[in-house]
Amino acid sequence: MRGSYRSQQMKEYVRALKQIDFDLAYLALLTHEGIKPLSRWEKPLDNHGLALLEQLGLLTKQIRRRVQTGKEIIETIFSRLPGYIQLYQERFADTPIDKSPETQRLEGFLFGYPACCVDAYIRRPYAPNRLAEQDQKILFHWACTNCKMTPLLLPAYKMLHDLLNSY
Ligand SMILES: [Zn+2]
Repeated sequence: MRGSYRSQQMKEYVRALKQIDFDLAYLALLTHEGIKPLSRWEKPLDNHGLALLEQLGLLTKQIRRRVQTGKEIIETIFSRLPGYIQLYQERFADTPIDKSPETQRLEGFLFGYPACCVDAYIRRPYAPNRLAEQDQKILFHWACTNCKMTPLLLPAYKMLHDLLNSY
């Protein structure tokens, strides 16, 4: 896992992504390593950004969505797995953004969030948990109160977060 980043070429791609945005590069690393099956970037990404993701071996797709006001937005999704890209596209392309429990469960599945945390969040968003603040901050899901899964995922998140900070 670590070895792949010794490649100078890859490091350059990740550095270039970090110049666009830290979280974008972080998501790309997490997705590249398979910690997250699929990631969604909710801001516009130009061809340069898309090409960098693709050079990391990720498949990308731009997805058109609508917000409540009817305004159109473009999401960028990326994954190593064509089936996940297809699943996201079939379910969400040209649909309004929604926060229904069903949507949150599917998103959680695609984004690699523990199901316990997704279910707890649906019942009560941001319920207090026992994670250290600096640990919660490097995650993209809110850990549930007595989460058994998140502590297993944290070392991989931490390693990639530290790696990216070092670039
Ligand atoms: Zn949990």
